[in-house]
Amino acid sequence: MPLFVEVALPVPMRQNFSYKVPESITPAPQRGTRVKVPFGRQQLIGLVTQTTDNCNLAPNQIKSIIELLDDSPLLPDSLYKLTAWAARYYFCSLGQMLSQAIPVALRKGAQVSAETTVYWTVTAAGKEASLDTLKRAHAQKKVMEYLLKGEVTQDELNSSELSKSAVKALQDKAWIEKTERVNQIDLSWRDGLDLGEDPLTLNPEQAIAVATLNQQSGYNTTLLEGITGSGKTEVYLALLESILKQGKQALILVPEIGLTPQTISRFKSRFNVKVAVIHSGLTDNQRLAAWRQARTGEAAIIIGTRSALFTPMAFPGAIILDEEHDASFKQQEGVGYHARDLAVMRGHLEHIPVILGSATPSLETLQNALSGRYKHLSLGQRAGNAEKVRQGIIDISNQPLKTGLSHALINEMRIHLDAGNQVLLFLNRRGFAPALLCHECGHLHECDRCDAFFTVHQALGEIRCHHCGNQYAIPRQCHNCGSTMLMGQGVGTEQLADALEKEFPKHPVVRIDRDTTSRKGALEGHLNAIHKGEYKILVGTQMLAKGHHFPDVTLVGLLDVDGALFSADFRAPERFGQLYTQVSGRAGRARKPGTVLMQTHQADNAILRELMHKGYGEFARGQLNERQQALLPPAWNMMLLRAEAHLAQDADNFLSQVAELLPQNDDCEVIGPMPAPMDRKAGKYRRQLMFQTKSRSMMQQAFEHALPSIEALPLAKRCRWSLDRDPQDLL
Ligand code: ADP
Ligand code: ZN
Ligand code: ZN
Repeated sequence: MPLFVEVALPVPMRQNFSYKVPESITPAPQRGTRVKVPFGRQQLIGLVTQTTDNCNLAPNQIKSIIELLDDSPLLPDSLYKLTAWAARYYFCSLGQMLSQAIPVALRKGAQVSAETTVYWTVTAAGKEASLDTLKRAHAQKKVMEYLLKGEVTQDELNSSELSKSAVKALQDKAWIEKTERVNQIDLSWRDGLDLGEDPLTLNPEQAIAVATLNQQSGYNTTLLEGITGSGKTEVYLALLESILKQGKQALILVPEIGLTPQTISRFKSRFNVKVAVIHSGLTDNQRLAAWRQARTGEAAIIIGTRSALFTPMAFPGAIILDEEHDASFKQQEGVGYHARDLAVMRGHLEHIPVILGSATPSLETLQNALSGRYKHLSLGQRAGNAEKVRQGIIDISNQPLKTGLSHALINEMRIHLDAGNQVLLFLNRRGFAPALLCHECGHLHECDRCDAFFTVHQALGEIRCHHCGNQYAIPRQCHNCGSTMLMGQGVGTEQLADALEKEFPKHPVVRIDRDTTSRKGALEGHLNAIHKGEYKILVGTQMLAKGHHFPDVTLVGLLDVDGALFSADFRAPERFGQLYTQVSGRAGRARKPGTVLMQTHQADNAILRELMHKGYGEFARGQLNERQQALLPPAWNMMLLRAEAHLAQDADNFLSQVAELLPQNDDCEVIGPMPAPMDRKAGKYRRQLMFQTKSRSMMQQAFEHALPSIEALPLAKRCRWSLDRDPQDLL
């Protein structure tokens, strides 16, 4: 009897595809194994979702599987269920969701388990040889020096910067050789946990939190709400200790910018276990290696950014999401999944606890904690001896500013610098100036492809659009009137850093933003130098606001935050509250008292006042009330439909037709179509439609019902359109 399989393929069609199992493939593939199949003119790798005895397709239409790649399922059942759930929730195909969950190397057909590993070692002849003879062969000398420190796997060698031809030359000389050994999976950490250092003595709040977390068994989600510096990481470490002692693994997710060597080393130095680190900077092979270590159970701790959520664990013990409010947990491109929400679902499916930690919890999580769906633990004191910070507002209306700095701030900086401390200035605009202004006609130079101003990058001699990447040499003449009187308008980090070097010549300045940290290892280098005290003034964007611990920073200044208060996005106040609190949290983290000063034209702004007087916790609870009254998330559910097209009218008409297909009543609301906050980007017009429902299930039903008709609209082909469920960003 012929056997058929359904296969999930990485294509946008929301369906699986049927194939025949040829007689050569026995036994038939199991659910969850990879197969290579013909698809149109290509060959694709997909995952078997089902086997069946019959198939609706005509016999001449059905094609056969080309190759079966696994003899057992690739993912544990829990992760298979998680991706299936997510595909349904985010309205994408199972194949697309699985692509998010499976490392690239496996999607390209690599073997699941490495049975053997290739090691490179120095031979006896190589050990005797004198490296001086390699004086002229610098690359070979480097390889020798590297290998003399110990054996190196092929993967490590591939990802190092060593020259391949030098390796070959040394191999030909028989100075080095490669050997292949069968892998032994080392699970010895499960037999007896070895601590690399003594834990700190927990303060009473931390001790209560740890005791509560240790008592739970099975699934639970807990919000650990702890002010910055209250010792959340220490709580995670204490919890990890008991998880690891039970022979179970833990998955730790951190924001994209938070995965610094500092963070990793805190986990590595506490426990003598293998830690698998997973982030976007890895090569496909490195990523696969880390994935394997997690899957076999060799790595006791898996720490990574958003996509690490899908890493299988042989012995799942707990999932921790640090800085759970961070926007980077939501994927913006392609499938817009939220790693926090999926982490909670994964915890359910694997019957393990999920801990969401933050000083500034998202309103979504806060609502769940307040309603009792999640447990709620708080840390309200700064750990160790750190004191609370002093806060102040500098009203800059009608004040002269010197490159964006008020006199009051400069004076305060001088006091802190003279006392030998560090000062951190936060400015969320990289580049030299956020716009190029003509002094004669007032023309501001705008990107020709977006509704956005060009940012001037003086050092590069360029103007760049931060939204589409468009760049030109800085023009000499105004595009409007031809005048040569062009000047930068507004202040970016580059200009601020330049000005500070002149103002404080004795105090070295470092700038931390995407431009100064794009090179690999650059951020680490800067952070190290800051810790050593080589820099006294730290200027930076968001990148400086997150998670870092700078014990000598006693003054934090926020320069230009008014824009953040007036964004069109309904999340603007929440985001501002998080940003302000996180940036402020960089001050006075050690024994030295900290001061936070904010320059603003809005000294009387109610949001600002409330935030400063009540602190984030109370402020956020107030915001939650407002969202409830306005029927906005997290009270109501939101779906954002985006459409972009070369003709604005195509996008508009398409979304108007979509609106007709969606229910509108007391429990469902359609808003729009309307222009996106950035109306034109990279040459295309962008429109959006918002759909809100009172309950999640209503959202699910409404869309499952409407989607086939939406996809069938003729205009759907003239636009690029996408669905964003629980959107985090309305841009
Ligand atoms: P958070 O993650 O909440 O911002 P951390 O865990 O990074 O806080 O802790 C802040 C600082 O306080 C760190 O330097 C940490 O070593 C220290 N710390 C944390 N807990 C304690 C404790 N119980 N005793 C002494 N120092 C502590
Ligand atoms: Zn002009
Ligand atoms: Zn642009």
